[in-house]
Amino acid sequence: MDFGSSDRATELRDRLQAFMGEHVLPAEPVWAEQIRSAPSPHSHPPVIEQLKAEAKNRGLWNLFLSDAEHGAGLTNCEYAPLAEIMGRTWIAAEACNCNAPDTGNMEVLHEFGTPEQKQRWLAPLLAGDIRSAFAMTEPDVASSDATNIAMQIKRDGDSYVLNGRKWWITNAMHPNLAILIVMGKTDPSAPAYQQQSMVLVPIDTPGLEVVRSLPVFGYHDPEGHGELLFNDVRVPIENIIAGEGMGFLIAQARLGPGRIHHCMRAIGAAERALELMCDRADERETFGKPVSHNANIRDWIAESRIELEMARLLVLKTAWLMDEVGNQHARIEISGIKFAVPEICLKIVDRAIQVHGGGGVSDDFPLAAMYAHLRTLRLADGPDEVHKLSLARQELRRQRDRRKAAQV
Ligand SMILES: Cc1cc2nc3c(=O)[nH]c(=O)nc-3n(C[C@H](O)[C@H](O)[C@H](O)COP(=O)(O)OP(=O)(O)OC[C@H]3O[C@@H](n4cnc5c(N)ncnc54)[C@H](O)[C@@H]3O)c2cc1C
Repeated sequence: MDFGSSDRATELRDRLQAFMGEHVLPAEPVWAEQIRSAPSPHSHPPVIEQLKAEAKNRGLWNLFLSDAEHGAGLTNCEYAPLAEIMGRTWIAAEACNCNAPDTGNMEVLHEFGTPEQKQRWLAPLLAGDIRSAFAMTEPDVASSDATNIAMQIKRDGDSYVLNGRKWWITNAMHPNLAILIVMGKTDPSAPAYQQQSMVLVPIDTPGLEVVRSLPVFGYHDPEGHGELLFNDVRVPIENIIAGEGMGFLIAQARLGPGRIHHCMRAIGAAERALELMCDRADERETFGKPVSHNANIRDWIAESRIELEMARLLVLKTAWLMDEVGNQHARIEISGIKFAVPEICLKIVDRAIQVHGGGGVSDDFPLAAMYAHLRTLRLADGPDEVHKLSLARQELRRQRDRRKAAQV
């Protein structure tokens, strides 16, 4: 395994770090003030557009995309340290056009889109002019088993007609949201994994209504997580992606990179939490000595450092595997990091909150918001239990094969 950085990736990392220090981190309080003073929690802070322009100027744009023509052309191993740097703050990924769910949607259009779909939707997404959403989860069925998805997509002449309800659809309140990739059933009588399809639905299509925005622990993320009602929503048949029955295949292709990107950014957030924990522990004194002089605090610091290193190595190993054998063959490893990394990062942020006392749960520090976001990663893109199920299945198969081989 070689996790060494190429010259290009090293150079991009240096540039990204400079951008973070000079522009992105100083923009955090500006962003917070713009949100606070806006009439709605779902306004789009103007500072994001300024950061996007600066990121573009500096060539720090679409770093996630492995295709060199439209993106940076980096391998997963090369992108991992960059995603980690962006993960240190919640505004960096959007500033560099590397934020979920748009990255996954761009990858879908890039890989499966027709030339017309690419021109109409991929080009403005790559330019950062519009935003997109991915609509799979439904309130009425357990959506961690995607065979349950019930949204109807019925062919009617030259159109598909969609009926159903979705929720937790990220970007639903973003003022630049223009297009949704919607998963539903085109053929309920087909074999379980061929019933589903994905279609492109412009946000202004009649019959599509954003019913409400769902808060996360009381936080209203500006981009919003929406509940959406589809009532006879009609789109032309050209809006289907890769043909009927391809929904599962596309979902798998989309979720692999999305999951590892979440893990990479989570490590960046936890790294920042550890820095904050050490700063605060050195700064504050109780009972005549700095908080950092207490053995339990030192244990937390030492354990956090090692857990973070373990998480990073596991993510890098998975990135390496994706580069070597492809996303599909690395899917079990992706499942592994998807439950292990958020758990480790949450533990580290929780310790940092504790060391900050009451300040830790306030919004004077980024820790409370970090915790809320990281906690959602144990659900979004598949809950921990489903990823553990995949891993356990494979492990049991491996062990049964071992026993069988030993009997021969
Ligand atoms: C902040 C946030 C953003 C999101 N963004 C999006 C988005 O943009 N688009 C989108 O489509 N969805 C999105 N989601 C939804 C997310 O992907 C789903 O919530 C998730 O897949 C789980 O589906 P569910 O909520 O229907 O839970 P259910 O399927 O009802 O499962 C509930 C619980 O049951 C347990 N469980 C399920 N299966 C098993 C099993 N086999 N063994 C043991 N326990 C099990 C798990 O603990 C699970 O959490 C988002 C969610 C959040 C919180």
